[in-house]
Amino acid sequence: MGLSLTSDVQYIKGVGPAIGQLLNKLGLYTLKDCLIFFPREYDDRRKLPCVKEVECGDMVTIVLTIESMSDKKIKKGLHVIEAVTFDSSDWMKAVWFNQAYLLKVLKPGLKLLVKGKVETNLFTYMPQINVSETEILRSVDDIKKSTGVIIPIYNLTAGLYQAQIREIIKQAFMTGKTLIQDNLSNHIKREHNLMELLPAITEIHYPTSVENYKKARYRIVFDEFFFYQLRLEKQRIQHKQIAKTTPLIITQSLINHYYQALPYSLTNAQNKVIHEILEDLRKPVAMNRLIQGDVGSGKTDVAIVTLLAAIEAGKNGVLMAPTEILATQHYLKIKGLLAPFNIQCTLLKGKMKKREKEESLAVIESSEACIIIGTHSLIEQYVNLSNCGVMIIDEQHRFGVMQRIKLQDKANNPHCLFMTATPIPRSYMLTCFGDLDKSIIDELPPGRVRPVTSLVTDEFLPQIYQKCVERLRLKEQVYIVFPLVEESEKVDLKSAVDGFESIDIIFKEYQVGLIHGRMKPDEKNEIMKEFKDNKIQILVSTTVIEVGVDVPNATIMVIQDADRFGLSQLHQLRGRIGRGGKQSYCFLISKSNSDQAKKRFKAITDTADGFKIAEYDLKIRGPGDVLGTRQAGLPQFQLADLLRDEQVLLLARKVAKQVLKEDPELSSDGYRSLKTQLESFTDTMIGQHLN
Ligand code: ADP
Ligand code: MG
Repeated sequence: MGLSLTSDVQYIKGVGPAIGQLLNKLGLYTLKDCLIFFPREYDDRRKLPCVKEVECGDMVTIVLTIESMSDKKIKKGLHVIEAVTFDSSDWMKAVWFNQAYLLKVLKPGLKLLVKGKVETNLFTYMPQINVSETEILRSVDDIKKSTGVIIPIYNLTAGLYQAQIREIIKQAFMTGKTLIQDNLSNHIKREHNLMELLPAITEIHYPTSVENYKKARYRIVFDEFFFYQLRLEKQRIQHKQIAKTTPLIITQSLINHYYQALPYSLTNAQNKVIHEILEDLRKPVAMNRLIQGDVGSGKTDVAIVTLLAAIEAGKNGVLMAPTEILATQHYLKIKGLLAPFNIQCTLLKGKMKKREKEESLAVIESSEACIIIGTHSLIEQYVNLSNCGVMIIDEQHRFGVMQRIKLQDKANNPHCLFMTATPIPRSYMLTCFGDLDKSIIDELPPGRVRPVTSLVTDEFLPQIYQKCVERLRLKEQVYIVFPLVEESEKVDLKSAVDGFESIDIIFKEYQVGLIHGRMKPDEKNEIMKEFKDNKIQILVSTTVIEVGVDVPNATIMVIQDADRFGLSQLHQLRGRIGRGGKQSYCFLISKSNSDQAKKRFKAITDTADGFKIAEYDLKIRGPGDVLGTRQAGLPQFQLADLLRDEQVLLLARKVAKQVLKEDPELSSDGYRSLKTQLESFTDTMIGQHLN
């Protein structure tokens, strides 16, 4: 019986149901999944060293023959096998720690391929290798298969061994390779000097040289980007994102009123960005603009002015925020600020009382222009956004690509404004948005005093709490942030819940509140309100306050187990303080203040520039983590890396645009296969589903 690309992995020769389940854990469900389950890294065994050549400290792979061996239990939990071994050049001692199961197979006279670290053994004056991986070479065939080649190393899951998965993938490859369909048009391959697909996939699993590998990788990365861009571009055309829209007639009367009502005047940077936005709104083309501005740079006011512009033009203004806390806060703030203007302002979120929701929907449905603030629940079917003139998406990187497109689609292609405090690398912008205009708020409101940030070990907690008391006496407020909600068995960290209890005892004279992600939205809002009104002086929280929360009277932030946070996240958290005119303090509590810890935190203790911190963070952690796009639905590519492969992305994007310009329906002979590929990623090879 022949297998197809969609056959279940358990039918691959040598797999079966039990191992099949392990493969599922690795995300491998079908034969196709195995074919494009690319190695994590490679072991280059083309030229293995001999004993004479190895040096102390090297990590080596080497072929040895066992002369003699012994084993002993040194103490409980430490078992050692020692062997004297040799190759044609010299003697070497090999040791295996806690791998007693090998006793059954290791015998004098046996040839082994071992991988491990070389150390000197002062007693024997023989180099010693601490073996971490062992392969037994029983036959000439084994030797031929395992040496002189580059060996793929795959990701593993518990219960699966490297040699095993290597064999499975090899089987999958032998079975499936004839099924591989290359849908990239020939002339695109020719024009851009791209390798054929089957040789490329072969080379990725079984590289023959660095040059060939690079060419193969290029081909696969190109495919991943190309088909993704092709889909996005098609979508974009369908959604008429560049299409015409009604220009808004803006009188600026409401806006000017708003300026007068503000207790401060806007910064030059805010004014400049607002100017750019209003220009856009007056054009018959939908605005598509991203505002980048560090935490505290005053993006909310820019958003409000933009919403007012919509109202002036008789349209609804929509603001979508990533969390309920933030949506509620925006709502309360905007409602308060706009109270004198007689403008309807309504909130829509996931969990609401039925009556409240009906009221909200009634406001939205009414003929009068209103401001609608909400979470992603706005995307839900029953909300009518057809009269939307402007749509603003706050902290945009927290939303998925498709979420955004759905919302835009629903609202009939409105003017769109995206706001973010995190700089987004160009490749990410292109992947998620295509072409966006960019505005930067490169100035903070005057009178801001930069928080003093220090890294301290937890021995100093008493002093820090003392400092908190000093500020509390001045009627200021404190945040204490914990990384986890509940004690987890694996990670021994103080949780917010435990922390809250002890902090509540320490600060007897003050009101301490607790807020975390697992609380009901109403409870969260209640606590936030009490903190805002200074009925609660100390807010113990998890990262739910990370984004957008605005309580200017808070001047101290203590971040427990700061090591657990990313740098950008710490910067966002720290952005919650230093919002008033007073000196504020941020204490990063870390178990160690070793040089390494200091180095990691240096960016955040030395600079207040969120963009610099984010750049540094991107380098350390990669964009997926920093931008939180992993959960937000940015595609997971097999090989492509948005930062490293930006040039390929740019090319793939250019080609995708060109193709659709030539043949929007992809119906010509040259492009029909592209359509096949877009329509079915299951029967074809490389590509990404959008969701
Ligand atoms: P973010 O860019 O992080 O969203 P916000 O819009 O929340 O920043 O603004 C941070 C704080 O600064 C708020 O308390 C806001 O009222 C205040 N603010 C904004 N613009 C100005 C300004 N031009 N002058 C003084 N304070 C301002
Ligand atoms: Mg904000």
